[in-house]
Amino acid sequence: METILSIEGVSKSYKKIKALKNLTLTIPKGSVFGILGPNGSGKTTMMSIVLDILKADTGSYSWFGLPNSHEERKRIGSLLETPNFYHYLSAVDNLKVTQAISGRGNDAAIDEVLEIVKLTERKNSKFSAYSLGMKQRLAIGAALMGNPEVLLLDEPTNGLDPVGIAEIRELIKSLAQKGITIIIASHLLDEVEKICTHVAILKKGTLLTSGPVDEVLSNEDIVEVAAANMEQLKKCIANMGGFTSIKEENDRIQIHYPIGRSNLEMINSHCFNNGITLQLLLSKKKSLESKFFELTND
Ligand code: ADP
Ligand code: MG
Repeated sequence: METILSIEGVSKSYKKIKALKNLTLTIPKGSVFGILGPNGSGKTTMMSIVLDILKADTGSYSWFGLPNSHEERKRIGSLLETPNFYHYLSAVDNLKVTQAISGRGNDAAIDEVLEIVKLTERKNSKFSAYSLGMKQRLAIGAALMGNPEVLLLDEPTNGLDPVGIAEIRELIKSLAQKGITIIIASHLLDEVEKICTHVAILKKGTLLTSGPVDEVLSNEDIVEVAAANMEQLKKCIANMGGFTSIKEENDRIQIHYPIGRSNLEMINSHCFNNGITLQLLLSKKKSLESKFFELTND
């Protein structure tokens, strides 16, 4: 897979606070990549560094596998904080200002971008009359000027109501379908799970894990069983089928199932019919929430 962004051993401190600790990360082209972590974990710092807004203390990064240059920077769109739009100007006029300042895109691009973020019908309304969701969509529109190949969004749904959140999520999905690589910082597990293909989990500036969402946030039922004769039990469970994997712990066997697929009664009767009396039959459903909590808690 082609790489859009690679980060190598980046560290950053603000005086005594170590915001990023030796971060190494690769972001594949075409992914919707979630940077997931609680507040203060270093997400904004990471984004600021790769956008050249902040300087790393150590380490390096590279976009598109190329040396950092002004040319490459034009291929990246970003939304780190809500831009200062003029309240008394319309969406179109605000984008004209953005365009003039950034030098990205042109008048035709303004119409295209407004269409993408579904503000065409309201393009002549004043910014002050927009809902928060519309304001945020306009901000994403501004970041899309100049047809970037990558889009960085820092907490794009913060402060929005459920309808606004759903609209932003749909927008992100449609941008991903156009082939734009999207990097999203979020403290919301649910958001990352719903829209991202990949995720990196940050905790206090340290990368805990990264990879495809379905691998990192794998969601499964785990059933633990034990019996007097563990060897016999192991064979019996292996013959039962229906599970994804079996793991042996010291004094118990863990049976892993896809979410919602474990059935304690069935396991119990299968063992009983094979002459085994279970001493332990325990369901340990592992929700994404508990896993994230586990990963990010002390
Ligand atoms: P996140 O975006 O995940 O909430 P940040 O990157 O904003 O995390 O912050 C990471 C850590 O760095 C936090 O402890 C935060 O308080 C600290 N920090 C961020 N910006 C500054 C700053 N300008 N000065 C001092 N400390 C900062
Ligand atoms: Mg932040």
